[in-house]
Amino acid sequence: MDIRDALPPGSTIGILGGGQLARMLALAAGNLGFRCHIFAPEADSPAFAVSAARTVARYTDFAALKTFSNAVDVVTYEFENVPAETASFFAGRVPVAPGVAALQTAQDRIAEKTFISGLGIPVAPFADVADVESLEAALALIGRPSILKTRRFGYDGKGQTRIDETKSAATAFAEIGQQPAILEGFVRFDKEISVIAARGWSGEVAVYDVPENHHENHILKTSTVPADICPEVAEKARSLGSHIIAALDYVGVIGVEMFVAGEEVIVNEIAPRVHNSGHWTMDGCCVSQFEQHIRAICGWPLGSTERHCDVVMTNLLGDEINRWKALAAEPDVRIHIYGKTEARRGRKMGHFNRLTPRQA
Ligand code: AMP
Repeated sequence: MDIRDALPPGSTIGILGGGQLARMLALAAGNLGFRCHIFAPEADSPAFAVSAARTVARYTDFAALKTFSNAVDVVTYEFENVPAETASFFAGRVPVAPGVAALQTAQDRIAEKTFISGLGIPVAPFADVADVESLEAALALIGRPSILKTRRFGYDGKGQTRIDETKSAATAFAEIGQQPAILEGFVRFDKEISVIAARGWSGEVAVYDVPENHHENHILKTSTVPADICPEVAEKARSLGSHIIAALDYVGVIGVEMFVAGEEVIVNEIAPRVHNSGHWTMDGCCVSQFEQHIRAICGWPLGSTERHCDVVMTNLLGDEINRWKALAAEPDVRIHIYGKTEARRGRKMGHFNRLTPRQA
């Protein structure tokens, strides 16, 4: 099912997942006059506080999913690990964006890398790993150092391990919990960047400027726009993002993480959702990634991605959220707090955008 006529204000958007991404989607949707209905298993989900309706249930509670699907005009999600049977459940009942096929491609690192390399786009050399024997064969092919990652459910560096000269295949496979995996050649990159792009039901595509991303302990710490890369590399990255989103027949906002090595741009992974490295758009652009996603899935015209200032986005992790008062006093800072009660170590509690006049 797709959406041909734009959903009017007053329609209800169903969102699977109730974390900070759902919360910022709901806030943006509210600005356009939509209602949001959040479906999430955790009773204290941050998105509930800013949404019109909620369902607290497991993603495989099909009775609850049925009631939810009858109450909403379109379904989207804030995370990629939505069970395939949950996403498929909506087919024929209510439009879902992004679609199930795109979700399945992004959920499995082998499917994802096979798809991207099939488009002629560079990715790290990779091989399928099912057990210690196939890991040994993959190491002989790809060499060391390399990175072993679980095929599914990895995030923020979880479910992956670096294999250097001394680590045995058995140790590495045990470190990732002996799960189906992918072995990737180690990319000696200069920078990490990402492309945030959007596509509507009609195929219209809009792409934001490219941020440069820095991680600490495998968690995104800052995104800076513009990235310190030459215009040709930035353009190449943007065109790879456009190519991927169109080839996936995708509707909504996508985040594509990439490595820059010299003049080369190598795609690392796809996030089929709004992305942390796009949070700078909330204050740096006419239309944020969150509003853009809502526009795309509701059949509205896509908004302008024009950037009106330079931005450094910084995540507030764990008790760094205690900086809120000092940050709020800074005139060039805009702060966004997710309303989570417990500031666990490394947990994304909020972020701030530091804005400076656009230089280029
Ligand atoms: P991922 O979970 O795939 O996003 O990986 C998390 C981080 O690990 C990336 O942001 C990179 O810093 C690093 N990384 C992942 N894959 C590779 C690779 N093939 N070569 C070098 N570094 C990598």
